[in-house]
Amino acid sequence: MSVSRRDLFKLAGVGALVSALPSKSSFAAAEKVGKMGAMLPPPKGNRVVVCGGGWAGLTVAKYLKKEDPNIEVVLIEKRPNFFSCPISNEWLADLVSLDFLSHDYNQPAAKYGYKFINATVLGIERDKKRVYTPQGYIEYNYLVLAPGIRYNYSAWFKDDKQMAEYARVHYPPAYIPGSEHLALKRKIWEFEEGDFVITVPPGAYRCPPAPYERAAMIAYVFKKNKVKGRVIILDPKGDIAPKGPGFRAAYEQLYLGIVEYVPNAVIKEVDPVKKIIKTTAGDFKFADANLVPPHQAGDLVWMADLIAKDKDGKPTGWADQDPITFQAKADPNVFLVGDVIGGVPYPKSGHMANSQGKIVAKIIASRIKGKEYKPTLPDNTCYSMVNGDPQEAIVISVTYELKDGKIEPKPKVINERSKALADATYEWAKAIYRDMFA
Ligand SMILES: Cc1cc2nc3c(=O)[nH]c(=O)nc-3n(C[C@H](O)[C@H](O)[C@H](O)COP(=O)(O)OP(=O)(O)OC[C@H]3O[C@@H](n4cnc5c(N)ncnc54)[C@H](O)[C@@H]3O)c2cc1C
Repeated sequence: MSVSRRDLFKLAGVGALVSALPSKSSFAAAEKVGKMGAMLPPPKGNRVVVCGGGWAGLTVAKYLKKEDPNIEVVLIEKRPNFFSCPISNEWLADLVSLDFLSHDYNQPAAKYGYKFINATVLGIERDKKRVYTPQGYIEYNYLVLAPGIRYNYSAWFKDDKQMAEYARVHYPPAYIPGSEHLALKRKIWEFEEGDFVITVPPGAYRCPPAPYERAAMIAYVFKKNKVKGRVIILDPKGDIAPKGPGFRAAYEQLYLGIVEYVPNAVIKEVDPVKKIIKTTAGDFKFADANLVPPHQAGDLVWMADLIAKDKDGKPTGWADQDPITFQAKADPNVFLVGDVIGGVPYPKSGHMANSQGKIVAKIIASRIKGKEYKPTLPDNTCYSMVNGDPQEAIVISVTYELKDGKIEPKPKVINERSKALADATYEWAKAIYRDMFA
């Protein structure tokens, strides 16, 4: 296999991650990846490789097999088990157990007949239709990229990777499941007094209502534990959205003096060591924090060179795909699905990723059969828990319509919090977990 030094960097994903030249060791790692043999024999028929076993990838894998059991489906996921971000705010407040959020990858793979590989995708060569893992490469006919998001700490710290790592470890964003969530929960329950700051990321980010729901759940814990603490929400937007009236009512009626919402707080500087955030709405010192930097599409989309560019040729940070078919604009054999997508008015949510996953499965299966398929538009529903005792939630549901070539959202919001909506929250979660795992 002959690959250039530049290609090798891309294979290891290092080119997209660092602006300086990679070190000798990362070059050696990339070279090793480039020399690898095949992990699986070449496809006998049609093989679809799905990278990322989150909400989007799991749905695509299952529904492809349901559409056509003859398609060979390979799902590659780096985590050994599934941890749900939806309902994780309720878990932070001890309203559900960790079991509720955790699922195994083996059951759906065995039941629906796709191959699950627990490995990290290290590189993608689109011209050769190959995906590289530490165990070797896998060839595909179609590739689905569903790696979710990555954090863009360089917006805060430029090239200072040490500071970025300091912020991530000491003030974990907990928008990518794992240790960050466990650390955040520990911090909330051990918090003694002072200001606990939550930063809302600018632009598009995973789960728009999540920071406001998280603030309500942390405030609920402080209130319950009689902690002399305040939750300060620093929001670059002018108002809470979505479900603004519902969140505001909860903050005023349930957490008066505990939650302080600060609009128009665009971050100018973050100093996690001195614990100061400078914003356009003033400077804030914090005792502890949930520092959430801006989000971008996950590394795999950068590795595959499928990030959209703005009119000045700068990367938008999000995938460049057709808004209706989710097919990569630069490659008819690649589909981009879930939180990675850009240029469409869809929120980055688990429900949306699941809905898109079903559409993408139908599109690929129809194409393999040589049949025409007119895709529908996805939909979204998002519940937010705002009270812990009694449990009460609010909700937004959105359908979409194509009007004059534009996708238009048709939202329905219930801002009156209720126990019935709290019950519906868990029913929604159970139904969607069943859809992906059972
Ligand atoms: C606090 C919080 C609350 C939320 N609440 C809700 C809610 O109530 N309702 C809702 O609908 N949504 C909610 N969301 C949003 C939801 O979690 C995301 O929108 C959803 O996870 C997106 O699915 P995805 O498949 O695109 O990405 P993910 O679910 O993140 O899946 C991506 C997968 O790709 C894997 N991966 C990445 N890179 C590689 C690689 N190189 N090799 C192998 N595997 C890789 C990752 O490990 C991951 O498992 C919430 C999010 C947060 C943070």
